[in-house]
Amino acid sequence: MTGAFDPSLDDPTDRLRSPEPGAPSRSTGLLRKLEGRSIVLVGMMGTGKTSIGRRLAAALGLPFVDADVEIETAAGMTIPEIFARHGEAYFRDGERRVIARILADGQRVLATGGGAYINPVTRERIAERGVSVWLKADADVLARRVRKRANRPLLHTRDPEQTLRELIDLRDPVYALADFCLVSRDGPHDAMVESVMETLERGIETLPRLQHAPKEAAVSAEALAREAGAANARTLVPVELGSRRYDILIGEGLLAEAGARIARIAPKAACAIVTDETVARHHLPALEASLEAAGIRHARIVVAAGEASKCWTTFARTCDEIIAARMERGDLVVALGGGVVGDLAGFAAATIRRGMRFVQIPTTLLAQVDSSVGGKTAINSEYGKNLIGAFHQPCLVLADTGTLTTLDPREFCAGYAEMAKYGLIDDAPFFAWLERHWEEVFAHGPALAQAIATSCRSKAAVVARDETEQGDRALLNLGHTFGHALESLTHFNTARLNHGEGVAIGMGCAFRFSARLGHCAPEDAERVERHLRTVGLPSRITDIAGWNAGPQPILDAMFQDKKVERGALTFILARGIGQTFIAKGVPAEAVSDFLRDELGH
Ligand code: NAD
Repeated sequence: MTGAFDPSLDDPTDRLRSPEPGAPSRSTGLLRKLEGRSIVLVGMMGTGKTSIGRRLAAALGLPFVDADVEIETAAGMTIPEIFARHGEAYFRDGERRVIARILADGQRVLATGGGAYINPVTRERIAERGVSVWLKADADVLARRVRKRANRPLLHTRDPEQTLRELIDLRDPVYALADFCLVSRDGPHDAMVESVMETLERGIETLPRLQHAPKEAAVSAEALAREAGAANARTLVPVELGSRRYDILIGEGLLAEAGARIARIAPKAACAIVTDETVARHHLPALEASLEAAGIRHARIVVAAGEASKCWTTFARTCDEIIAARMERGDLVVALGGGVVGDLAGFAAATIRRGMRFVQIPTTLLAQVDSSVGGKTAINSEYGKNLIGAFHQPCLVLADTGTLTTLDPREFCAGYAEMAKYGLIDDAPFFAWLERHWEEVFAHGPALAQAIATSCRSKAAVVARDETEQGDRALLNLGHTFGHALESLTHFNTARLNHGEGVAIGMGCAFRFSARLGHCAPEDAERVERHLRTVGLPSRITDIAGWNAGPQPILDAMFQDKKVERGALTFILARGIGQTFIAKGVPAEAVSDFLRDELGH
């Protein structure tokens, strides 16, 4: 198919070296922002680094270099020959030296081999002289693409697809250190190049390394290391929604930069901060100081902490106070807090003056990995959770990982449930990664920001495909049909059950229900339950303190949920870890039998 994006195939017509007609003004702006730095494409084999890199270079009028071709030329043999004769270590050493030379040669678009970015010295060189862009693709997509090629020595194993998955599992957390990430999908080459350019144009100025980088080359090694560290401490995840596209920034210290960042996207706008009493105590002064430093007029609306604030009364008061603070349509609502504040403030922003822009500054782990992204806003009705709401996307999300240090450990754990959910939905390697690295995540190490970024990427990809939940966005509801019913029956009393715990129990139920219906192996259900319990999450309805309701009230509560269509229940079920599907029309009797067993009734 003409123009179809299959990066594993070289396109012989793709040898451009000069800017395309009409491109100069756009490319000039981007080149200016790059300040002489190279664009370095990193990621697994088969993600399209070469094809995309060539086109990108042509669009920008820069030379294109494929590191693998340079290595082959320098060695006078092919990469499989280098591996066969000298082994991988020899190849990696040559690769490191060749990439350092290319980067020292001046501004280029550089496509690197899959293993290059794993080398810490190469990463440092790239951070010094370039901006890194990770082209990410699903294992299935990559397997299909690389199957067409025999020149991948690392895949000369008995089970190349399994080897590929293991490599992805090992390398993805390192690729996640890149400055930018884009999902490489099958589609026109030009659309992908366009996305890379757009992401760079919008994101380069957000990289602290570039904001503060001294222009001269004479920088001390210590300063370079500091800058490289700072760059790694920020991850940008774009949510691709056309004209309503926005960025999620993840890293420590973003609260202090909020004023400057908001001023950049909404010059002269005033801000109505909506927060709750607990968050206000810990983090409101830093946000207000940051807005003041940026010269932004601001007002604060502080609601009671907890789910009960997602009600008509608090919603009405919030709207009235925002209007009373003389906020115009062009001003911003800023949600500073967890999912409750985000849902409430977002819904207020969706309705006041028929729609105000809003910024999410999520301060719980749950909000950072889930509720602040995707534009679902709502309050609760006496008939159930989130029944009154709107889709309204934020224009910026600032996930400051530093705010999580004041979070109650139980709340942190609840957020982890939503994080694990992404692995269970369609990313088995991420679930396996969490099984190995959960302690580093809980210790607030670098793994925490990585896991948040991976979760946000998953959510951003689903939202970009299906913004208003007409299709597979519903997969994000894994565990929610059970979870919402349990929250409703515990009267949203978070002392007994908070949202994340409800989701954890719901996921445990969804996998056991799937196993009971013969969709997935009982071992998978056991593995899910084991991990949830290991990190300290509940996984069974009977884990809820004081639980005494039988199957019927749970079933009745499920029928009140949004996920009921014409009287039939919809569940997200699983064929295995990372293999969920939407099951419509599940008979109430099957659910009731399952619940009876779960409750021992
Ligand atoms: P929450 O907002 O109630 O926060 C939990 C508690 O932590 C509150 O007491 C809060 O005051 C406190 N807190 C928040 N940040 C803190 C910090 N940094 N330090 C100390 N304390 C802090 O609850 P949540 O778990 O963040 O969110 C749950 C809500 O999110 C539910 O209402 C759920 O329906 C909603 N949700 C929405 C979406 C969506 O897509 N819109 C997705 C998932 C969940």
